[in-house]
Amino acid sequence: MSSITFIGLGIMGLPMARNLARAGHDVTGVVRSDRGRARAAEAGLAATDDAVEAAKAADVVITMLPDSPDVRSVVSTIGPHLREGALLVDMSTIDPVATRDIRAEALPGTVAMLDAPVSGGEAGAIDGVLSIMVGGDAADVERARPLFEVMGTTVVHVGPLGSGQVVKAANQLIVAGNIQMVAEAVVFLRAQGADLTSALQVIGGGLAGSTVLERKRQAFLDGSFTPGFRLALHAKDLGIVQNSAAAEGLALPLTAAVTQLVRALVARGDGELDHSALLKLAQELNGQDGSTTS
Ligand code: NAD
Repeated sequence: MSSITFIGLGIMGLPMARNLARAGHDVTGVVRSDRGRARAAEAGLAATDDAVEAAKAADVVITMLPDSPDVRSVVSTIGPHLREGALLVDMSTIDPVATRDIRAEALPGTVAMLDAPVSGGEAGAIDGVLSIMVGGDAADVERARPLFEVMGTTVVHVGPLGSGQVVKAANQLIVAGNIQMVAEAVVFLRAQGADLTSALQVIGGGLAGSTVLERKRQAFLDGSFTPGFRLALHAKDLGIVQNSAAAEGLALPLTAAVTQLVRALVARGDGELDHSALLKLAQELNGQDGSTTS
């Protein structure tokens, strides 16, 4: 059993840390408020507000933070204090270039690093069924695999450090495009006067069925967009896709279009809504009242 320090106990991190503790690992969560301390205790974690002290004691440090600057700041602070032979596993979704820079600039050579972003959302984190895309050295991946297998069911080593983030960026463009197309289908069906509940049920059983449709169906029917996955985070991920694609000179026209729609929602103040709120914008573009969808 490993001694784990977990930094970033948000929508995803808290249930992931809870599952590690339930599996018998010794997990310390780094908290920043009394409320965070209480939530960590409820999840069966030890809690501290001293990231450096917690990192010093850990075999493995897991970060699950919002964005590249958060990971850079935390790893720069704890990096010099990590034990020789410790493993840093960044499970946040960040820019792959930042991952490699953080490894080079903020970690001593005696500490190994993996990037291991996840897909599967809050429900996947709670149920321990995440898809985990891992970049780094094979021996380090095997060392961390027992921990990954507590948090997820699909754990794949996809290449050297940074590769997990590249695969996650591709994942995020598929998810955004899929949500947007389901949203446009809902607008179309409503305009035709179709029964949405039965329409989405039968569509879900055919080639157009998807995990997005399955997981977001109720949000689409209810017009309720509680996160889940915040649009602000999806805008960040699509920015990563755009930067990486631009660096390679790639044209990804549909990705560009959905990126603009996500940015528009964030710019007008809807960044804290779930990414299924792409439906809200699609409805408004068509003069549909978003208050009732079914
Ligand atoms: P979140 O905002 O709910 O959680 C982030 C947590 O990090 C917060 O609790 C915040 O207080 C904490 N934090 C920030 N800076 C800190 C610091 N310096 N020290 C300690 N704690 C700090 O975000 P989330 O939805 O859990 O997402 C986390 C990451 O996982 C993001 O990169 C996101 O893109 C990715 N992700 C999210 C989902 C999802 O469905 N929510 C799915 C897959 C991947």
